[in-house]
Amino acid sequence: MSNKFQKLIDFFTKLPGIGPRQAMRLVLAMAEWPKNELDEFSQSVNTLKDGPIFCAECFNFADSEKCAICTSIKRDQTRIAVVEKVTDLQSMENTGAFNGAYHVLGGHINPANGSLPANLKISELKERIQKLKKMTPDIEVIIATNPNTYGETTALYLEQELAPLEVKITRLARGLAAGSSVEYADEITLANALKHRR
Ligand SMILES: [Zn+2]
Repeated sequence: MSNKFQKLIDFFTKLPGIGPRQAMRLVLAMAEWPKNELDEFSQSVNTLKDGPIFCAECFNFADSEKCAICTSIKRDQTRIAVVEKVTDLQSMENTGAFNGAYHVLGGHINPANGSLPANLKISELKERIQKLKKMTPDIEVIIATNPNTYGETTALYLEQELAPLEVKITRLARGLAAGSSVEYADEITLANALKHRR
């Protein structure tokens, strides 16, 4: 194997869910790209860490300090959907059924994996709610973690942590089958789970 190929394959295998075989397929596919596309690709990689990557408010992807959702006057900033990952946020956005804001935790609680509450953006969420409460008492936090063991654990922990803040807390309705995920739920199911949250 050429060194050029091997080096790229090694990089791709660092990504979640990519094994050596898939990595090789990706590199082979990229070798078919025209030169200018490869240049654009490497340019994107190059600038990935120039400036902010995550929104300082909700931890969505952002090109500046705050993301497009947090700065939009069309979005209801008093409705905050708490999700595990940016990909969950994206799935909820795809439904078009939610007009509020988000808060990306950055994962879920799983002590066996070393993923503890302190690793998640929970204190940031509490601070954010406290700030918002100075402006309006009408705040709803929609806990939209995944309907599996870790998502449930995280949701229960959040409910406890947020209880003293005295804001309305809702959960996605049970349209989502247990063990499924927010990221891969189809748009209609997810939109329904949002609509019937309680
Ligand atoms: Zn944001």
